[in-house]
Amino acid sequence: MKRCFSVWDACSDALITFDKENLQEEMAYIVENDIVVASLTKQLDSMSDNVQVEYRSKVVKYRWPRPHHMAESIPWVQVTLANGKTLQTKLLIGADGPNSMVRRELGIPTVKWNYDQSAVVAVLHLSEPTENNVAWQRFLPTGPIAMLPLSDTESSLVWSTSHQHAEELLELDEESFVDAINSAFWNNENQSELIETAGSLFRGTLSTMMPSAGSPRQLPPSVAGIGPKTRVMFPLGMGHASEYIRHRVALIGDAAHRVHPLAGQGANLGFGDVACLTQLLSQAAFNGKDLGAMQHLLEYETERQRHNLPMMVAIDLMKRLYSTNSVPVVLLRTLGLQATNMLPALKEQIIAFASK
Ligand SMILES: Cc1cc2nc3c(=O)[nH]c(=O)nc-3n(C[C@H](O)[C@H](O)[C@H](O)COP(=O)(O)OP(=O)(O)OC[C@H]3O[C@@H](n4cnc5c(N)ncnc54)[C@H](O)[C@@H]3O)c2cc1C
Repeated sequence: MKRCFSVWDACSDALITFDKENLQEEMAYIVENDIVVASLTKQLDSMSDNVQVEYRSKVVKYRWPRPHHMAESIPWVQVTLANGKTLQTKLLIGADGPNSMVRRELGIPTVKWNYDQSAVVAVLHLSEPTENNVAWQRFLPTGPIAMLPLSDTESSLVWSTSHQHAEELLELDEESFVDAINSAFWNNENQSELIETAGSLFRGTLSTMMPSAGSPRQLPPSVAGIGPKTRVMFPLGMGHASEYIRHRVALIGDAAHRVHPLAGQGANLGFGDVACLTQLLSQAAFNGKDLGAMQHLLEYETERQRHNLPMMVAIDLMKRLYSTNSVPVVLLRTLGLQATNMLPALKEQIIAFASK
């Protein structure tokens, strides 16, 4: 099935489309979190000889390894659970999310800030069955609204907006909530005539120079209702740990980096960390090395920071660039988006970087 991403600007209607014509293979998959968790659980169950899972337990204390000459020295990391059980490990992987206790207890310096936005999420029922293979995202001055396909009749909503508006959206009855979504995707109240004219002139000039480039315009599906699960809101923020590793410790996922959901990259960055660390650790195990040694952990940190940092900077920049309706900025991003949309080679590079 052909899959495509369409992103556009509510202040100018400038549009960028990433579709299969720009690619050799599938560009992206949208997988519900429940499905990811279910398949990971199944995988863990099949490894019960080697893996023991402690469900519904909380880590309440860590003790870190110290050099032998220091008092109370221990060679490995010691973990204490709320039920009093203690565990020892040669390598602790801190995957405990944006407020990571592992990161905090180690005193790892972290750059972080809260955005002035919360995201409202819900499952949407479409007005009629469609092929539904396009992920839609529209940048409104209050934040981006995205509709991601789940099936031919359902999509997932991620609507980032001011905290107050997010709270109001949660309070609305279903019909008014659905109206608000449709109007956020369809209305043109944020557009100015000047930007419209400049944008269409620029688009016209570009298509004369590159007649085959660009993409025909499609329209998002309309929404008829919401799923039985309640709407939920999440405050949004950004964070980056300046170190991902310490002796016998590695941070992965949101414990190491937290991003705005506008690019749908948060979990992907975490999966990238897992793939990288797994590869380095299996190599270390194969070579009979100590899994918690700094040598390969340093390789992990370098490789992942080299990938994650530029992505985080780009996402933060996008958030800032689209959080305004000031005319010069809107004009600049309109022209930039239209020009990028006309350059398949550049779009391919963007996709390649985002899917690494
Ligand atoms: C609205 C929204 C939409 C998003 N959409 C996308 C998307 O489309 N695509 C995408 O790739 N990403 C998306 N993300 C980002 C994605 O959700 C996160 O990047 C991802 O969940 C991070 O996973 P994680 O396992 O590192 O951390 P978390 O999901 O935060 O999990 C950490 C876990 O550690 C547990 N924990 C913490 N402390 C302890 C302790 N002391 N003891 C025991 N357990 C502990 C927590 O209970 C939690 O279960 C979105 C995020 C938001 C907010």
